[in-house]
Amino acid sequence: MISIALDGPAGAGKSTLAKAVAKKLGLIYVDTGALYRAVGLKFSRMGYNTELNCDIENILKSTAVDIRFIGQEQHVFLDGEDVNSLIRTPEISMMASAVSAKPPVRAFLLELQRKLARENSVIMDGRDIGTVVLPDATLKIYVTATPETRADRRYKELKDNGMDVNYDDILNDIKKRDYNDTHRAVAPLKVAEGGIVFDTDNLDFEAALCSLIEIINKGVKN
Ligand code: C5P
Repeated sequence: MISIALDGPAGAGKSTLAKAVAKKLGLIYVDTGALYRAVGLKFSRMGYNTELNCDIENILKSTAVDIRFIGQEQHVFLDGEDVNSLIRTPEISMMASAVSAKPPVRAFLLELQRKLARENSVIMDGRDIGTVVLPDATLKIYVTATPETRADRRYKELKDNGMDVNYDDILNDIKKRDYNDTHRAVAPLKVAEGGIVFDTDNLDFEAALCSLIEIINKGVKN
């Protein structure tokens, strides 16, 4: 079994890269952000906003989040419902960022992530994979790029999915999420000990994928 931890800020290209790497190297790709998004969706559906003025622990007692692989694709289930198509909106991005700062939510999702890595060879993307979830991962990589580059990529991705979005709103959301993710008290986003920083700023997808595969091949051999 090997495990590759891929951490980094929103929009750095982690998921697109991880999916391609998984296909090339025969690994299971686990998108942990989807888990936080599913929890964010639950609270949003209950009528709460990012202030989360509610008894989080109590709500989690009656919440079930699970991942199933349909073909090669990961589907996240919330209380038995496949919510994959509902969790990629800007609103749910902000809700995911808010719930992810809450220790009970992180504890709630921890074992599911570890179990997936125990049972499969994985490339897992998130914010705290190398620091908290899989501190003994075979390889820890921190993918990054400037906020502007990341906003640009996110804008194109959402537009391609037919969403009516505004670039400045996306850039602001990214900066806000960066701030939340790096400043929270539990499992803040940072480079893991022994982690390799991989800057994708001036690389297009093909070039980034090539470099990443090179880093992985070298790292897994050592
Ligand atoms: O990766 P994605 O943008 O889908 O993640 C949504 C949010 O979930 C992030 O902004 C972050 O706050 C949170 N997250 C996290 N830890 C992870 C994965 C995601 O806190 N391992």
